Amino acid sequence: MEHSVERTYFIETVRADFPILNQEHHPGVPLIYLDNAASSQKPRSVIEAMDDYYRRYNANVHRGIHKLSEQATAAYEGARVKIRKFINASSKREIIFTRGTTEGINLVAQTWGRANLKPGDVVLSTVMEHHSNIVPWQILAAEKEFVIKYIPLREDGTLDMDVYTRLLNEGGVKLVTVMHVSNVLGTINPVAEIARQAHAAGALILVDGAQSTPHMPVDVQALDADFFVFSGHKMLGPTGSGVLYGKRALLEAMPPWMGGGDMIASVRLEGSTWNELPYKFEAGTPSIAEAIGLGYAIDYLAEIGMETIQAHEHTLTEYVLERLSEVPDLKVYGPDADRKGAVAAFTFAGIHPHDVAQMLDAEGIAVRAGHHCAMPLHDYLGLAASTRASFYLYNRLSEVDSLIEALYKARKAFYR
Ligand code: PLP
Repeated sequence: MEHSVERTYFIETVRADFPILNQEHHPGVPLIYLDNAASSQKPRSVIEAMDDYYRRYNANVHRGIHKLSEQATAAYEGARVKIRKFINASSKREIIFTRGTTEGINLVAQTWGRANLKPGDVVLSTVMEHHSNIVPWQILAAEKEFVIKYIPLREDGTLDMDVYTRLLNEGGVKLVTVMHVSNVLGTINPVAEIARQAHAAGALILVDGAQSTPHMPVDVQALDADFFVFSGHKMLGPTGSGVLYGKRALLEAMPPWMGGGDMIASVRLEGSTWNELPYKFEAGTPSIAEAIGLGYAIDYLAEIGMETIQAHEHTLTEYVLERLSEVPDLKVYGPDADRKGAVAAFTFAGIHPHDVAQMLDAEGIAVRAGHHCAMPLHDYLGLAASTRASFYLYNRLSEVDSLIEALYKARKAFYR
């Protein structure tokens, strides 16, 4: 098979930037990292940027008037500017640093949700959501007594848009909260169309971009997302970094979530007033090195180009689906490659997904097994668990071949 990877960028040049990839998983067995939907690896530039911060200009931000604090503030705020451009927000005031997707969704639930949702209101979500886009709404619904409804799936693992339209028409919907790309099925949801219909029905939309932002161009204005959240660690950045984007007028109107330093304009014993955006939502000392690291991750992705990365991953997706379809007794979940990110969740008849993952690990292949924080989706599919291989810009087509070989080996061992 022709490796079209080489036509997009030199994969080995990219791989050389990721120190962790160049190691043996077991003696004599090279590492094949296919757990990117859980967390991505980090290029040297990100690791070194964080190291450089701690070695040369570690200080708190926004507070000191000394040189180190000014340098730290410039780097921290510089990262915010890079993020604004990367997702095409209209202002850096719309970029709130968080610890990740989970925190971003909880922030919206506890601020916008707490202020706006009343008994009888409807929050519309989908059965494919990650727990982080289900549980925060359930926690709030128990208190505010609104209703959560879920859009079901079609046979091919895409959202049933007819039911979506019908649920909107039933009325009462205040918020549609939906993932952009599924971390299990890989389904790329038609978010712009979902947003269009939500807005026509008078609802807002929150988009969980945890699995889209690392892998494809994202334009929050083109999507017309009211809120958009993602995690740094899935896009070459460090853990503890993430972003909540929100339209400025919405963020201005929302009360703060956590109280403390930096988020205030003034504090008196009688009461306090809030800082301007984005600081109103960034209480306490933020994750400074992490934000800087995320900025460097974005530099790295932007340098290659998100279209290019998407094209590379599409090639991998087509190839892995084609090869997996050859393996007897194996079932892959989700739509075809044209409507899917580089994620392949599968089950092997008669072999527990954890056993499959363990046997792959013995061959140097890191995948995830379990419910992938999507228990309702697994219930919906009638599964307790699945095994998931997920890819990124540094994966080779030959690693797909290794995966398939290892699966045949696992099958032979189990069915013997
Ligand atoms: N949403 C999706 C679709 C995810 O895949 C994940 C992570 O697995 C999350 C949300 C939660 O992200 P984090 O744990 O970084 O907050």
